[in-house]
Amino acid sequence: MFEKNEILELQIEAIGSEGEGIAHANGYTLFVKDTVPGDRIEARVVKAGKNYGYARCERIIEPSTDRIEPVCPISKRCGGCQFQHLSYEAELKFKQKKVFNCIKRIGGFSDEAIPMLPIIGCEEIMHYRNKAQFPVGVNKVGETVTGFYAERSHEIVDTTKCYIQFEENELILDTLMAFMKKYKISAYEEKINPKTKKPEKAKGLVRHIMTRKGFATGEIGICVVINGDVLPKDDEFTAIVLKAFEGRSDVRISSICVNVNKKVTNVIFGDELKCIYGEPYIVDMIEDVKFKISPFSFYQVNPAQTMKLYGKALEFADLTGEEVVWDLYCGIGTISLFLAKKAKEVYGVEIVEAAVVNARENAKLNGMENVHFTVGKAEDEAKKLPKPDVIVVDPPRKGCDEKLLETIMNYKPERVVYVSCDPATLARDLKVLCGDGGYRLDKVQAVDQFSRGVHVESVVRLSIEY
Ligand code: SAH
Repeated sequence: MFEKNEILELQIEAIGSEGEGIAHANGYTLFVKDTVPGDRIEARVVKAGKNYGYARCERIIEPSTDRIEPVCPISKRCGGCQFQHLSYEAELKFKQKKVFNCIKRIGGFSDEAIPMLPIIGCEEIMHYRNKAQFPVGVNKVGETVTGFYAERSHEIVDTTKCYIQFEENELILDTLMAFMKKYKISAYEEKINPKTKKPEKAKGLVRHIMTRKGFATGEIGICVVINGDVLPKDDEFTAIVLKAFEGRSDVRISSICVNVNKKVTNVIFGDELKCIYGEPYIVDMIEDVKFKISPFSFYQVNPAQTMKLYGKALEFADLTGEEVVWDLYCGIGTISLFLAKKAKEVYGVEIVEAAVVNARENAKLNGMENVHFTVGKAEDEAKKLPKPDVIVVDPPRKGCDEKLLETIMNYKPERVVYVSCDPATLARDLKVLCGDGGYRLDKVQAVDQFSRGVHVESVVRLSIEY
């Protein structure tokens, strides 16, 4: 056992699920942030529990051959990226292994029963994201700041430049900061309860700015989230944003909205959305299909990888044109519309109403009549739909609800395609579907949607075993 502040020499052996380095000393496990397997380091113990502890890297004695110089100068402080100091090749290896290990350990599959295809990596690992949510707040000396939260905290790391975001964000943020300064508009300040780590009191107006860019169309949408009913001088805000982008032929500000969120909460958006310029959505295209996207709607964040992911989902669905297909957790109907091109009927279910409104419009916009959308929880609504031949699910990180897994197993369609953004919950659900459910794990494909970050997307095909 070690003492706090003890200095140790450690050899980093592996990467943990949150992206931290893992080392062992006398059989005791230590997690060390910002280190890479192969690093030999000097570390200071910061927390020593009974079974494992945490240490801070004080000095790199010998760097790993997988270590690189971070492009971003604030990557150590910012909670956004975990792998700025790791080669992309090593990052992909980690992600492939993460998916495999989750399915093995949590799903209870043997090595031979996990048919993993090689991970699909990104060609562009910088400036790939099409959506950002920047908190706005006040720093220790009372200045208005924006940027990203530091890891596991609500302290804002002050920056308007992010290396994984679309580059126009810098201009948008600088414009917002200048606007707030000029008109003395206050920024949100919250008091966090040290025990619950939840906000308990708050004041100030501007709390977040969300931006999204359609990479295919160049349309940019901005949504300012405020703790109040109106953004003072909102027409002036619109004017200076438009002015900032004047003369740019590659991008166009097509939507500026204000969202009202007066609740003391970590949830970013409130219910009320006011459009102060343009439309309350942006339009983007994926291949030849057009999509309207409201600020409330989910939309894949890495446009260069989206079709690679959807392409795999479509390939795994293996449609002939005769099938009834469910697309559960369908968002604005992106996967649904691609499925609809190759199926008889597609039924989408989605919990966010604004996304379903978009989905219905998107079907119309693209002249598709064989796709139908329902607002509600997949676990409640799916069982009311016509019997499916193929089911596609794409749940949020918490995975599928148990009730939904039961519905899938009751209908037992020949194929299930599971798109997942968290391999741990994917593995948990596979255990059920391939256990009592009688499905066989056919194919597992990891797709990197979040380069430089720890998260990994995957798509899995399940077939009925006869
Ligand atoms: N397939 C879509 C969206 C995937 S993200 C795409 O690729 O764009 C997951 C979606 O599930 C989100 O839109 C979220 O709002 C929705 N969601 C979350 N919980 C849900 C539930 N219980 N029932 C239905 N949809 C849900």
